[in-house]
Amino acid sequence: MKRYTIIGNGVAAIGCIEGIRGVDAQGPITVVSHERHPAYCRPLISYLLEGRADLGHMPYRDGAFYERMGCEVLSGRDAVGIDPAAREVELDDGSRVSFDALCVATGSSPFVPPFAGLATVASQHAFMTLDDALGLDAAIDATSRVLIVGAGLIGLKCAEGICGRVASITVCDLADRVLSSILDAECAALMQARLEEQGIRLMLGDSVDRFEGGLAHMKGGEDVAFDVLVLAVGVRANTALVSQAGGEVDRGIIVDNHMRTSIPGVFAAGDCAQGYDVSLGAKRVLAIMPNAYMQGHAAGVCMAGGDEVFDTGIPMNSIGFFGLHAMTAGTYEGACYEERGEGSIKRLFTEDGLLKGFILIGCDERAGIYTSLIRERTPLDSIDFEALKKAATTTAFSAERRAQMFGEAV
Ligand SMILES: Cc1cc2nc3c(=O)[nH]c(=O)nc-3n(C[C@H](O)[C@H](O)[C@H](O)COP(=O)(O)OP(=O)(O)OC[C@H]3O[C@@H](n4cnc5c(N)ncnc54)[C@H](O)[C@@H]3O)c2cc1C
Repeated sequence: MKRYTIIGNGVAAIGCIEGIRGVDAQGPITVVSHERHPAYCRPLISYLLEGRADLGHMPYRDGAFYERMGCEVLSGRDAVGIDPAAREVELDDGSRVSFDALCVATGSSPFVPPFAGLATVASQHAFMTLDDALGLDAAIDATSRVLIVGAGLIGLKCAEGICGRVASITVCDLADRVLSSILDAECAALMQARLEEQGIRLMLGDSVDRFEGGLAHMKGGEDVAFDVLVLAVGVRANTALVSQAGGEVDRGIIVDNHMRTSIPGVFAAGDCAQGYDVSLGAKRVLAIMPNAYMQGHAAGVCMAGGDEVFDTGIPMNSIGFFGLHAMTAGTYEGACYEERGEGSIKRLFTEDGLLKGFILIGCDERAGIYTSLIRERTPLDSIDFEALKKAATTTAFSAERRAQMFGEAV
């Protein structure tokens, strides 16, 4: 019987388990999990703080999942090494787990810049895990002044989660706009206005020079007093296990479309992996849940001897803050079609006869249609793109294509 080991227990691991079991009902699966919780839905941690979700909503699968799937979960254990020749994973207690096929699904970790004086800050938090959220929940009260460093998705989700529960929130970022990795200046300004309406103070184009207890001396010269600090500057893929074992890594663990790393028998999936981005035509880390699950699933199928390719990954985000929704996908290259409404902007980017990416903010659109055009690399001259760019509707496709793509009756 084939033995499977998975390092990490997030969404990619769940995809991997389900992929394995689709092919092999018997082979034992061992999951090595740093976190003690069963796999949970990471994006819900801000809803937990807001009170819109409770701990019962967090698990990604039901309570009987691991048992039903025949998995042994080693909770609270870290994998500290991979020995590809012996086909063993070494754990932090010195024990070893043997494998015939291994999936590294270790996700990413917060990146903490070496801020001067950081050690003098009494209450400092990250915002990546359920335990981070529970720690922050215990640290704040109605008198807390909170400083969040980083105005990306994680920093702003944190701000939304605690808004109304604390005395003040200041968010700073070296970038000159919020969500700078996914929104252009104009779309970011719409989101900024919505955040400021809620009383969140944004200090953009500025960051902390040094900390002194509860005081942040900003590069711009101002001093910001705070009680609770959240560091949400960025994340880095957890690649060390594979690089130390001699595997190829870049910003993530390099994988092919079967999620194979350069080490035979070792696969990688999720936020730790650098796989193919069809909108870019190159490999990059695609750190979002749907990709994590689908990469994990493809890895699992292939580990068990089946054949599943995942070559339709694209960066995409669907995020809302205080009721203003933004959907983005792909790359923002080529010609731009634009529509504006009251508090809304729609931008579609086309190049070489293909839809390459989009930004929709404040729009009420079926963005999934645009996403599938990017993923499938649908030639725009094969559909009524003139109609489609005005409104994302399936009628822009021929009846045969609709049946193919969306299962509609011809
Ligand atoms: C606040 C927040 C909001 C988000 N919102 C969205 C959203 O709206 N939409 C979206 O698509 N994505 C969102 N994401 C991103 C999404 O959560 C990730 O893409 C997804 O969880 C990645 O899954 P993963 O399984 O690859 O990694 P993870 O979920 O990070 O799981 C990896 C696990 O491996 C463990 N691990 C690492 N190293 C070891 C080791 N050596 N030994 C044992 N265990 C180890 C880690 O502790 C972790 O538990 C959000 C993330 C955050 C933090």
